[in-house]
Amino acid sequence: MSQSQPRDEKNLNKVDPNWRSDALNLDLDYGMQTIAVRAGQHRTDEGEHSEAIFTTSSYVYESAADAAAHFNGDKTGNVYSRHTNPSVRTFERRLAALENGERAVATASGMGAILTMCLAYLKAGDHLLAANQLFGSSIGLFNNYMAKFGVEVSYVDCFDNEAWANAVQPNTKVIYCESPSNPLAQICDIGYLSQLCKANDILLVVDNCFATPALQRPLDLGADVVIHSATKYLDGQGRVLGGALVGSDTLMQEAFTVVRSGGISMSPFNAWVFTKGLETLKLRMQAHCQNANQVAEFLVNHPNVSTVHFSGLSDHPAHELATRQHHMKGGYGAIMGFEVKSSAGADSSKRDSKAAAWHVIDSTQMVSITNNLGDAKTTITHPATTTHFRLSAEARAEAGVNDSLIRLSVGLEDVEDIIKDLARGLDSL
Ligand SMILES: *Cc1c(COP(=O)(O)O)cnc(C)c1O
Repeated sequence: MSQSQPRDEKNLNKVDPNWRSDALNLDLDYGMQTIAVRAGQHRTDEGEHSEAIFTTSSYVYESAADAAAHFNGDKTGNVYSRHTNPSVRTFERRLAALENGERAVATASGMGAILTMCLAYLKAGDHLLAANQLFGSSIGLFNNYMAKFGVEVSYVDCFDNEAWANAVQPNTKVIYCESPSNPLAQICDIGYLSQLCKANDILLVVDNCFATPALQRPLDLGADVVIHSATKYLDGQGRVLGGALVGSDTLMQEAFTVVRSGGISMSPFNAWVFTKGLETLKLRMQAHCQNANQVAEFLVNHPNVSTVHFSGLSDHPAHELATRQHHMKGGYGAIMGFEVKSSAGADSSKRDSKAAAWHVIDSTQMVSITNNLGDAKTTITHPATTTHFRLSAEARAEAGVNDSLIRLSVGLEDVEDIIKDLARGLDSL
């Protein structure tokens, strides 16, 4: 480790005095939607109204002495955009305020945030206890890479509180879950997990990608760190990749040094897109959720659908928990899984589960066949042969991904059109 590094870390932990004018004074106790529109903006002397994009890799100093002061810790301020950048910081400050966290650290992608979490909080010999229903790449990262570096990994059913408690080991350092989960929209009891973690000196890390702070704030429920794939709803229009961690100053400083050292940093342009995305997050999530609730009603009543995985349905086992955990009334997210029946009468041909699922997907005319989610455009995927294809058959089964499962990310089109498009394949099964 170089001599300058510890000083540099101390330096960057402080609020940058170059940040002369946070456009919103958070001490004045503003509401969440005001924060979403205005928090964290650094307005320059040009007086720009909209947030500027700082496309610069480095920063100039007034003199050799000024440069030295930036490096030896006497002065704070930007040094290099792998470390800090004003556009990235605006996004971090706005997201931290929305999640009720002290600080956020932005990353190049959601997976970058999850890798940062692993590198910051785990070491060889530690145990990572994760929910068995996770984004496919998260499972791949844990099984293929964390295991390679000596981290023990095991999984439990995310909805089974007893299973979580039984799986805790003396070396368990992190409990990791998504709520709602991908692709079955399962719900974890974050308050319960928080108590379990506190009693056993474990960090609780919650991937809040599907809910977003518009629906759920895991830190308020007792989580230590929130993970985001900003690629999804924070952008909301499928344009750029990014991620973030949110939590206490201390935990974020550890994450920050990983990002800086490993170069997992977010680009200023992407940060700007996400900053603007946050302004409309709540409005978009309200509309997404309303559409999703109607689509789920349609699916659950369709004769060729055997199961709908969506906590917004009143008979879903986690419906009550989701209602309690989500602060947006009637908001259960807009991602759902549904399973189609493997054969039905219509054209008298027998289809196996995969063929039936593919028929429904291929019969759409408007909905996009793509693995992205959290987009204004409705998207449809067959997880078993795409997002979860790389997992072993066993891991896939454990994640509840079978051949008849379709994942739907309900977008912002007219809901009648989404339903009509899904009906094409379902009616003709
Ligand atoms: C997409 C996603 C990720 C990974 O994010 P990227 O931005 O694609 O790297 C992590 N968690 C969940 C729940 C996701 O949906």
